[in-house]
Amino acid sequence: MASESVKVVVRCRPMNDREQILNCKMVVSVEMSRCQCLIKKPGVKEEPPKQFTFDGTYFIGQTTEQMYNEIAYPLVEGVTEGYNGTIFAYGQTGSGKSFTMQGVSEPAAQRGVIPRAFEHIFESIQCAENTKFLVRASYLEIYNEEIRDLLGNDTKQKMELKEHPEHGVYVRDLSLHTVHSVGECERIMVQGWGNRSVGYTLMNKDSSRSHSIFTIHMEIYSAGEDHLRAGKLNLVDLAGSERQSKTGATGERLREATKINLSLSALGNVISALVDGRSKHIPYRDSKLTRLLQDSLGGNTRTLMVACLSPADNNYEESLSTLRYANRAK
Ligand code: ADP
Repeated sequence: MASESVKVVVRCRPMNDREQILNCKMVVSVEMSRCQCLIKKPGVKEEPPKQFTFDGTYFIGQTTEQMYNEIAYPLVEGVTEGYNGTIFAYGQTGSGKSFTMQGVSEPAAQRGVIPRAFEHIFESIQCAENTKFLVRASYLEIYNEEIRDLLGNDTKQKMELKEHPEHGVYVRDLSLHTVHSVGECERIMVQGWGNRSVGYTLMNKDSSRSHSIFTIHMEIYSAGEDHLRAGKLNLVDLAGSERQSKTGATGERLREATKINLSLSALGNVISALVDGRSKHIPYRDSKLTRLLQDSLGGNTRTLMVACLSPADNNYEESLSTLRYANRAK
């Protein structure tokens, strides 16, 4: 079934200091055994909570380690065998996307999905017999529907999206960096992360207004096989999904926000068409993000979306819209 290749999980973070100071109430809860997430409209006692079912639910106390082992591991394992895979973090600014993808070094169980994937890949390489690997990394951002190479010589330069009749869609002149160890991958990740375009909104002063895609390209040469296999892992930190009204954006910022919302809805449309399985037309061409990820979404590939939420009542509308978005991707 088509939907087997797309998995969606929800992750709800703990209340932050601001929410605690504001005396916010918790409106999100989960029924872990049923993979259900419930959200209750604040101030409306008689209305039952809205329920959504996913492939996994991760609540306040749970770790990235647990999530990785349960749901991301098989996807990354597939990449080491020559399949393409994509992991997205979706949600409003401040909901835990970077916490999930980049993570923190302490406690170790909260190290992010990206460094875990690095370790996983290099462990697989060490354990493999009679097989040679070439591992390369690229890191780009899509900001205002413009692509920039976060690891290039000139990170301000706009890159072109091209289509090759055999190899599909690619970014012309995107730099590819051969990596031999987890440490090298981490250095590249930190370097690229520092080169992102960073905007200022009221929600979070260093919130990311761009989608960033870290890609690990693997070539696998096995003794006895006459062709090489190639797999790609895309690790995508999406821009904040918040609506413009709440962020107080005007002018340039508002234009950015409109483009962000466009590409997020294009992504939602592609994923829901894939999950549906009956659609003949998958609207990849509607945004740079979906064009670029075309060969890693659908077909023989695996996709994981982690929808990140705040538990607090003052984020109710945004959390509900994240749950609806994630539910459509189911
Ligand atoms: P985003 O990338 O969605 O804008 P962040 O990942 O930066 O959000 O998270 C916002 C804040 O919340 C950070 O200080 C982060 O450390 C904290 N946070 C997010 N998720 C969790 C979690 N699951 N457990 C503990 N703290 C978290």
